Amino acid sequence: MNPITTADLLTAWELGSSQSGSRRLLTLLATVHPELSEQQLLKLPIGQRDGLVLKLREALFGSKLTSLASCPVCDEQLELVLDVADISVASNDVVQQPLVLKQADFELAFRLPDSQDLLLIEVIQSVDEARSVLFERCLLSASRDGQVCTVHQLPEEILEKVEAAMSEADPQANLQLELSCPACQHNWLAAFDIASFLWSEINAWAQRVLNEVHLLAKAYAWREADILAMSPTRRRLYLERVMQ
Ligand SMILES: [Zn+2]
Repeated sequence: MNPITTADLLTAWELGSSQSGSRRLLTLLATVHPELSEQQLLKLPIGQRDGLVLKLREALFGSKLTSLASCPVCDEQLELVLDVADISVASNDVVQQPLVLKQADFELAFRLPDSQDLLLIEVIQSVDEARSVLFERCLLSASRDGQVCTVHQLPEEILEKVEAAMSEADPQANLQLELSCPACQHNWLAAFDIASFLWSEINAWAQRVLNEVHLLAKAYAWREADILAMSPTRRRLYLERVMQ
């Protein structure tokens, strides 16, 4: 991963702001991974993509994450303090694809979902339809007793087995946190999406940086490029003087 300058991150944020949730992640990753082509990024399994997102998050903002969750039973608000190391579950091994599932009379071959799939399904409103399209795209072959069958001919239990096998092969894609409510002791699993979490952090960061540029440019008539090239510490020290 290449180091990223304030100006480059701000450019990636600006570009990503007008893009969809899946596309903007690729914009960010392309900025710090020039060694990966667009095709390679598009074809990375989602969990591996999220593994790169986690590393980027750590490089940008450190390893501690603070997030909020609310108890589904009593609505108590929980503050979650997480560490990147605790939520990194992806291994560096490349998963051998296609994956194969043999269950009862069924024999299936499938691949892991990637960003190309997400870009297609994120515009589909219905969750069921999105799931069905994802299966159609990822299922490479399916047969029952040697007879070819389609996704729609597969029973729900087989589809669930496929989903479980996908999660196992690419665990970072489906990160679940085990939460416990201090107020009512309810325990539950909550999905944690590092991609949207990091994007909202970058969004807040960009607003702060723009505000700093605005105040410093107004006070000193410095160029935007010069202000962005300063370290955050130096920007803060000048800002403190402006605010006095
Ligand atoms: Zn509760």
